[in-house]
Amino acid sequence: MTEITRFAPSPTGHLHLGHVASALAGWRAAMESGGTFLLRVEDIDTVRCRPEFITGLYTDLEWLGLSWPRPVRRQSLHMAEYRRVLDALAARGLLYPCFCTRRDIMEAAGAPHHAPDGAMIYPGTCRDMDPGRRAALLAAGAPHALRLDMARALCVPGARDLTWHELGEGPQPCQPERFGDAVLARRDVPASYHLCVTHDDAMQGVSLVTRGVDLRPATALHRLLQHIMGWPAPRYRHHPLLCDATGRRLAKRDGAACVRAMRMAGMTPRQVCRAAGVSDHISAVSSAVGSL
Ligand code: GLU
Repeated sequence: MTEITRFAPSPTGHLHLGHVASALAGWRAAMESGGTFLLRVEDIDTVRCRPEFITGLYTDLEWLGLSWPRPVRRQSLHMAEYRRVLDALAARGLLYPCFCTRRDIMEAAGAPHHAPDGAMIYPGTCRDMDPGRRAALLAAGAPHALRLDMARALCVPGARDLTWHELGEGPQPCQPERFGDAVLARRDVPASYHLCVTHDDAMQGVSLVTRGVDLRPATALHRLLQHIMGWPAPRYRHHPLLCDATGRRLAKRDGAACVRAMRMAGMTPRQVCRAAGVSDHISAVSSAVGSL
């Protein structure tokens, strides 16, 4: 099957070896199938994302020998599309505004439970708010998030029987209810990761999502969003995360593991790929299809 894959980093720091492993997983799956590898910049959080990190990631990935179709999709330029999805969900009664602060949620929840993505499970305070009060708060411009009404979403026919396909493992059962009323638009950013990623994978025709295993639990919620929006379901391959010598997961804060530093220290792309645990440098993959 000809795959459309993507590497979808958030430009909140320089690329590290974990990103290299992830980008190469997508690149390889696309090249081996004669398909297309996409780069997508997930920069909806305009406070944490910085232009120099976007430029930096292009430079690093090109230096590694990867290529991708232009123009690159930058999520921050597509907020109107995400808004339309939110409006459609609201019109179906699947979304409601939530005026609670983090503290409100903690107080209402007592000992808060957490969703698989680390968010606090919402106790539902604003779900059944009096419509007059809700309208008044909205009219007054009160800051709010938009939450999925999980109970209602699960009433969409078929929503309780979803699975996603993990490559090499087969169908995986979904339990999106573990997310509670997930945030689909944040107070500070008028969209959320879960919404944008599923929208864009569908819009860009991504057939195989390759990403770190840390995002595997989120797939249940993504599958639900795909189902209620009528979007196609890609297949998934969640790869292990790279760890440092102490067994701690690599993160952007670990400057030593950043590609830019390695490049400037004189390492070759092949050496960086090896350090990322990819033993055969991508040229081996790309020469096989003659794309570089
Ligand atoms: N933008 C996400 C991140 O940098 C990855 C999204 C995805 O692969 O689903 O963690």
